[in-house]
Amino acid sequence: MKVENLFREKRPVISFEIFPPKRDTELKNIDGTLEILSRLNPDFISVTFGAGGSATNNKTIALAKKIKQEYGITPIVHLTCLNYSKNEMDELLAELKENEIENVLALRGDRNPDIEPKKEFHYATDLVKYIKAHGDFDVCGACYPEGHTEAESIVADIQHLKEKVDAGATHLISQLFFDNNIFYSFQEKTKLAGINVPIEAGIMPVINKAQIERMVTLCGASLPEKFQCMMNKYENDKDALFDAGIAYAVNQIVDLLAHDVDGIHIYTMNNTKVAERICKGIENLI
Ligand code: FAD
Repeated sequence: MKVENLFREKRPVISFEIFPPKRDTELKNIDGTLEILSRLNPDFISVTFGAGGSATNNKTIALAKKIKQEYGITPIVHLTCLNYSKNEMDELLAELKENEIENVLALRGDRNPDIEPKKEFHYATDLVKYIKAHGDFDVCGACYPEGHTEAESIVADIQHLKEKVDAGATHLISQLFFDNNIFYSFQEKTKLAGINVPIEAGIMPVINKAQIERMVTLCGASLPEKFQCMMNKYENDKDALFDAGIAYAVNQIVDLLAHDVDGIHIYTMNNTKVAERICKGIENLI
């Protein structure tokens, strides 16, 4: 099913994000993870893709195929474009068609100082246009409630987001954030900019300190005082931090659902316990 149609039928949409295993042998072992995630009945599962030059990328489409064929769940395949040529993209799109995978999250990908970009695609919008012109795919895009780290301003970022939607992105999935007010303010700005497609709120439950430090460095998410207080209190107690991180994410989701968000995208990090606990916490709300 095209995710575009899913949003016409159901709100809020609840989705999971997973990453492909690094080794072939692990692709077999991922069944245990998919068994559990499928029982939680997500509306779709998206599968990440490397920014280029990574052997793991071979597994993204294989994993999406498994999700669709063996678990009957709609997959979205992430594709990045900065380090790919149009010929390489054609091959990836042909593989998607062959496997009847209809949904793509079109991304630019992060710049890697060790890899010279192919300079055939510069921005995600170029990829959205290319995919729309080369097949019958539903294409979605990423968005950044606090602005993308490279954007000259949040206004410029939203203008570029509007270009991405005008190019054919039918829905948006947000970067993680820990302060819902930032998301609500972003929603208002997108409406003012004439962006009228559904926007899913990206939620990453924080379950260890190293993870949050890495995330904040990578995406620049700001940390509200109550979040920092929680981290400081429980950073040395793994189990307590897990409980607190889940409770924080559930609270965020409850508030987002009360504000009628279009969807919740859970960055599961392939951790089934995280997905189970979050879903349990909101089971009567969705
Ligand atoms: P773009 O939309 O192209 O934006 C990148 C920057 O360029 C922004 O600052 C934007 O304002 C600016 N810009 C856009 N158009 C123009 C223009 N015409 N002129 C000037 N500036 C412009 N990365 C991966 O490698 N693999 C993944 O699987 C992956 N999944 C992700 C999933 C989600 C939901 C999100 C939010 C991010 C994901 N990322 C992933 C990270 C993403 O690749 C990076 O954040 C990347 O730096 C930007 O990608 P983008 O598609 O948002 O880029």
